[in-house]
Amino acid sequence: MSKITLGILGGGQLGSMLSVAAKKINIKTVIYCDDHDAPGRKFSDEFIHAEYNDKEKMYEFANKVDVITYEFENIPFETLNELNKIKIVLPKPSVNRLIQHRLAEKDFINKLNIRTTQYVQIKSKKDLEPLVDLVPGILKTTTMGYDGKGQYPIKNIDQINSLNIDFSKEYILEKLVKLKKEISVIITRFGNNKYEIYDPIENSHENQILKHSKIPADISEKIFIQSREWSIQIAEGLKYIGTMCVEFFIDRNDNLYVNEIAPRVHNSGHLTINAYNINQFENHIRAVCSLNRIPLKKIYDAEMINLIGDQIIDYRNDFKINNNQYFFDYLKKEIKEKRKMGHLTTVYKIND
Ligand code: ADP
Ligand code: MG
Repeated sequence: MSKITLGILGGGQLGSMLSVAAKKINIKTVIYCDDHDAPGRKFSDEFIHAEYNDKEKMYEFANKVDVITYEFENIPFETLNELNKIKIVLPKPSVNRLIQHRLAEKDFINKLNIRTTQYVQIKSKKDLEPLVDLVPGILKTTTMGYDGKGQYPIKNIDQINSLNIDFSKEYILEKLVKLKKEISVIITRFGNNKYEIYDPIENSHENQILKHSKIPADISEKIFIQSREWSIQIAEGLKYIGTMCVEFFIDRNDNLYVNEIAPRVHNSGHLTINAYNINQFENHIRAVCSLNRIPLKKIYDAEMINLIGDQIIDYRNDFKINNNQYFFDYLKKEIKEKRKMGHLTTVYKIND
């Protein structure tokens, strides 16, 4: 069989890790990215640097590959739609358009009878004033948010005036959940009722950025079952192809809520690289390239720590890690505060 070539939009750490996984199963990668210095350059077979609305370069890219996927959700829908006319884009562009928009995403989840936080759409300052019930809450831009960007905590309604909110954008106001815990479920769907699902991962955040993930998650059996069932329902409802992640909140009364969906491989799933027979990246590639589905097997329990900003420096300089630890450096050109620079995974023998 001739070698499959996978096109990846985005060349950050996720694009890099997809490329590494592709190489292992003999799939060629072409990364398209608007950042000249993106780390994906070092891991892919070919790298195209251009803007996401450069039609000519997009056309060139599409003609080099067999199937197209993406490593982040904030790609213009138009771009994905145009590409999809030339080569198949998976997950399909309509899935991306839905999930890109926090309001459409939450409406979709509720229609499946799955619980989310309480929320309302906010178009202007006036919309906020009657919403005393949803306070304390968080105002979030409906599009383009990640790692807590575009979010304003609202403690009381009077505070709105002092917050200098840019109302040229649209928002939702979400009630704050009294969090006991956050978990995520990663699932790779291959087709109708054909999927592989990883065990729920327990996550903790610092400054709204993921800091630590571990399996097994310390959760009740009820939450274990419900989070898996809801993730399967969402993946089936979207007719999703590839790996996706559902982020959940658990409140102090052990109620589960879907926070958001990531239509891509996810940071909390980096531990699958060392803990499972098939990691989230390889599974994504298997699904979008129509390769065979291999039953998942957990080999180790694991925990992962994100190395953010200059936390990477010590690891770069001093490699004294244990033999159950794996250090990943994303090889980003510049260290920036709040930038994910690498991660460290530690694996443990499974305790039955
Ligand atoms: P992003 O798109 O930036 O990942 P999220 O909506 O996932 O945005 O918010 C980032 C983090 O902020 C969450 O993982 C959680 O820790 C906290 N957070 C967001 N919304 C709420 C909420 N309604 N209640 C409690 N915590 C929240
Ligand atoms: Mg999130």
